[in-house]
Amino acid sequence: MDIVLATFNAKYIHAAFGLRYLYANLGELQPRTVLVEMDAGVAPLDAVEALLAHEPRVIGLGVYIWNATLMLAVVELLKALRPDIAIVLGGPEVSHEIDAQPLCALADVVVVGEADLAFAQVCTRLLAGEPVDHVVRAALPELTTLRLPYDHYTDEDLARRVVYVEASRGCPFLCAFCLSALDKSVRRFDEDAFVAALGALHDRGLRNFKFVDRTFNLSIASCKRILGFFLERLDPDLFVHFELIPDRLPTELKALIAAFPPGTLQFEIGIQTFDAEVAARIDRRHDPAQIEANLTWLRANTGVHLHTDLIVGLPGESVTQFAAGFDRLFALDPQEIQVGILKRLRGAPIARHTGPWGMIYSPRPPYEVLETGAIRFPELQAMKRFARFWSVLANSGHYRHTLPLLMGGESAFARFLALSEALGGRFGRSHGIASGRLVEAVYDHGIGAGIAPESLGRALIDDLLNTGRLPIPDFLRPFATEEERAIRKARVAPKDGHARQEAHGSRGAPA
Ligand code: SF4
Repeated sequence: MDIVLATFNAKYIHAAFGLRYLYANLGELQPRTVLVEMDAGVAPLDAVEALLAHEPRVIGLGVYIWNATLMLAVVELLKALRPDIAIVLGGPEVSHEIDAQPLCALADVVVVGEADLAFAQVCTRLLAGEPVDHVVRAALPELTTLRLPYDHYTDEDLARRVVYVEASRGCPFLCAFCLSALDKSVRRFDEDAFVAALGALHDRGLRNFKFVDRTFNLSIASCKRILGFFLERLDPDLFVHFELIPDRLPTELKALIAAFPPGTLQFEIGIQTFDAEVAARIDRRHDPAQIEANLTWLRANTGVHLHTDLIVGLPGESVTQFAAGFDRLFALDPQEIQVGILKRLRGAPIARHTGPWGMIYSPRPPYEVLETGAIRFPELQAMKRFARFWSVLANSGHYRHTLPLLMGGESAFARFLALSEALGGRFGRSHGIASGRLVEAVYDHGIGAGIAPESLGRALIDDLLNTGRLPIPDFLRPFATEEERAIRKARVAPKDGHARQEAHGSRGAPA
C-alpha cells in the first residue's frame, strides 16, 4: 500500500470517525490506501511495526489529545527507521500552536483544520514527488459535496463499537474552553443523503447511533426529522445519543422526545457552571432557569437518560461556587453528572484568562488545570479525587441503593467530598482499586457517618446483586438472606442496563 492512514483510539470501542472521512474522500488513491486503527495502549515499537508492515510511502496520522504523547514516540521511531517515508499529521491537536510542538517539527506535513479533502491533495503531490509546504491550511470543505464515510464502518464496527454520525459541524456559541468556539457558524450535510445513510446503517443492523453534532437541537426542523426517523424504527435494541444545548427545547420537540420509550435516547447536556459571573467570563451564554425547567421536564415526562456535565476549575470559580452548582444540578436528578476538570485545549480562547485568573495547566496532554487563582493545587487534587470517585460510585450506577443513604443532608457535594477524601486517604489513590475493597471502604465510611449498619449493609447487598458483583463479602453476610448468602457468582446479567449507557458514554467534549 502506498498510503497508511492511521490513528490511536482512546479505546477499541471508539471507531475513528475522522479517519473514515479522509479515506472516503481519497478518490483514486483509495485503492492504494489502508486504514489502520490501534488502541492508545499499544507499545510504540509494536505500532511502528504494524505501520511499516504495509511498506507505505506516506503515513497519515490523526493526532488527538488522548494520543499525542504516544504519537510523538511513534513518529520519532518512524523517522529513525525510515526517514524516506513522508509523515503527514492532522487532527485538532496539531491544528494550533504548531511551532511549539516537537511532534510537528518531526513531520513532513501538518494539515491544519478539516482535512477531509486536503489529505488527498497532499498525498497526490507527495506520491508524485512534488514539493508540499510543511504546514498546509485546509480550506473548510463544503459538507454537501463530501463523500460520506458510513460505508467504511465494517460489520464488526456496527456490531461491537461506538459508531459516530453527524448531521452538522460547528457551533455558533463561543464558550472559551471549547475548540468549537472557533467555528463561528454551523454547516450542515445534505439532509436527504444523511438520512439515507442512517437508513443504510440501520438496514445493516446498527442500533447504537452516536451523534457528534455539537448542538443537535439548533435546527429544530432537522432535529424533528431525525427523531422521526428513529421513531419509525423503534425496537428494544435502539439507542441514540445526542449532544444538546439545555435551554432550547420547544414544545414541538418535547412531544417527539416524550414518544420514545425509556432507555432509547441519551442526551449529553453541558451545564459546565451555574454561576452567572463565571459563565459570562467564559462567554457561555445560557439561561439557568430554563435549563432547570427543561431538565425537570425531561426527568418527569420522558425516559431519556440524561448525561450532564460540570467543569471544575473555570477561571475565577471557587470550590464553594462549584459546590453550589453541583448541588443545584444534583437536585434535578439527572442519571449522570460528569465532573470534568478544565483542560486548556490547544487553540481554545480560554488561554486569554491564564494570566488574569492565575491559571496553571499541566504542560502535558490532556493539559488539565493544576491550580487557579480561586482553587489552590491541594483543593484541585481533592476535586480530581471527587470527580474520579463520583464516576466510579455514582455514574457507574453501581451504588444506586447505597448513595442516597450517603448523600442525605444539606449538601450532596459536601457529603460526597467527605466520602471521596476518606477513600483517597485510605487507598492513597483513586484508580485501580479492587471493587471488593471499595465496597468495604464505603461501608466503613457510612458507619462512621452514623448510618445504621442494617440499612447500609442491605443497600450494599442490593447494589451487589443488581450489578452481579458476587459472592457477597463476609462483612456483609450478616445482612443477607440465606438464599443470598448461598449465591457464589452472578447468575444473571446486571439488571439496571447501565452497562449499555456506559459503553456509549460521553466523548468528553461537552455542548
Ligand atoms: S461548549 Fe458546546 S455550546 Fe459551547 S462552543 Fe463548545 S460545542 Fe458550542
